[in-house]
Amino acid sequence: MKYEMVIGLEIHAELNTRTKIFCSCSTQFGAEPNTHVCPICLAMPGTLPVLNRQAVEKCVTAGLALGCDIAPEAHMDRKNYFYPDLPKAYQISQLFRPLCTGGTLEFEYEDESGQARIGRVRINRIHLEEDAGKSIHDLYGASTLLDFNRGGVPLIEIVTEPDIRSPEEAGAFVDRLRSILRYAGVSDCQMQEGSLRADINLSIRPAGSDTLGTRTEMKNLNSIRAIVRAAQAEFLRQTEVLEDGGVIVQETRRWDDAKGRSLRMRTKEEANDYRYFPDPDLLPIRVDGDWLRAIRDALPELPGSKRRRYVADYGLPEYDAGILTSDPAISAFFEDAVACGGDAKAVSNFIMGDMMRIVRERELDFAALPFSPADLATLVNRVAEGVVSISVAKGAVLNQMFEAGERPDAVIERMGLRQVSDEDTLRAIARDVIRDNPGVAQEYRDGKTKVLGFLMGQVMKKSRGKAQPAAASQLLKEELEK
Ligand code: ADP
Ligand code: MG
Ligand code: ZN
Repeated sequence: MKYEMVIGLEIHAELNTRTKIFCSCSTQFGAEPNTHVCPICLAMPGTLPVLNRQAVEKCVTAGLALGCDIAPEAHMDRKNYFYPDLPKAYQISQLFRPLCTGGTLEFEYEDESGQARIGRVRINRIHLEEDAGKSIHDLYGASTLLDFNRGGVPLIEIVTEPDIRSPEEAGAFVDRLRSILRYAGVSDCQMQEGSLRADINLSIRPAGSDTLGTRTEMKNLNSIRAIVRAAQAEFLRQTEVLEDGGVIVQETRRWDDAKGRSLRMRTKEEANDYRYFPDPDLLPIRVDGDWLRAIRDALPELPGSKRRRYVADYGLPEYDAGILTSDPAISAFFEDAVACGGDAKAVSNFIMGDMMRIVRERELDFAALPFSPADLATLVNRVAEGVVSISVAKGAVLNQMFEAGERPDAVIERMGLRQVSDEDTLRAIARDVIRDNPGVAQEYRDGKTKVLGFLMGQVMKKSRGKAQPAAASQLLKEELEK
């Protein structure tokens, strides 16, 4: 039997407000445990919540960015459960009347076989809620430590319809969603730090069927790669269960990325296990026409339209436009470098190639690089002017810019990296190479002209990458044919 997988995602994003959702404690990540707390977020008896207006605005902003309907009146509800990191023993969330409903996200992705596809995933709802504290289990499980700094940080939960059909599509959806939330300025979406967290609901059914199978919910996914791998593994696990004649149990599972498998956590609870009811301490949220218009007017350009503009205005290929606009910090760097006089395609090549690789390897941030977009524009221009070769520019010069923030012209002069196109110098190098490789040179003369590549490689090496390639190749041929 051939099975199809069905995936729906629940994504939590921490909103980047300055203060928590119901008190004025800071939301800053990474502080000493229990230093960003107060009687309200610690749930002392007699305290009352006051809703953070910014949190509502950011939730609405996310809804507008994803094409949702914004409810003119929304309510906060209590979701009751007991856990040490939840001091009130209920989480203030939204069940009955969320702020945002409906909406769709369209995105491109590559399927398993590398074919380009369009994904279309409907958003069921986006609701506003508070985060819980953090439990830190010590190494031997002897005690659990609690950090309430995160308790009361505002979150949005984005729930999709079960429209996703492959691990690759799920990964691409989260990638695009993250990009939109960052552009919209509502969340930092750092998956490593937990400010964006995805749960995967996955079921399988015979290919072609249109009824839904029983699903499992997988938690603890903290990278796009983990989402893709967890969905692949869960699809295989469920397939095996069914093929062995078993049944899928509706349960919550925890993904262990290091081991590449998931473990059962608990059987799944239903909404009525939480005894949801409207929170009597909070007033209804009314987003009137003026407020909604103001939020809409403040919405920045989103990646989709920015991408189309990159193709139309800068003449970039779709592929480049997609990558450059995937992150607001990258696109800002690109636009500034072009505004400083760099050729758009050349700037794009630098960013997409070596810069993104170095940024990833060194875990840097495009918004805080040691050199400016103007420096990149200068470097790109020095290549265009023939002052340095492209390989030296991408190698030694760029490296030094990352390493020490040194200006490109200063690096080129200090390290003597100017490209050599002077005929006498290049001819001398070509002669040296021919002298050192008599056998290969003879092969060339005997008609095996493809060895020219090897000899050119030697010329580049001898010149430490500085030989101007076209001139060097011409002179090398002349010398060989003498
Ligand atoms: P709960 O409130 O129990 O988490 P929801 O109805 O809110 O359940 O659904 C949660 C997520 O699970 C949604 O993203 C939804 O699309 C997805 N989902 C629901 N049923 C299935 C199914 N049979 N297979 C895959 N995903 C599902
Ligand atoms: Mg749910
Ligand atoms: Zn507080």
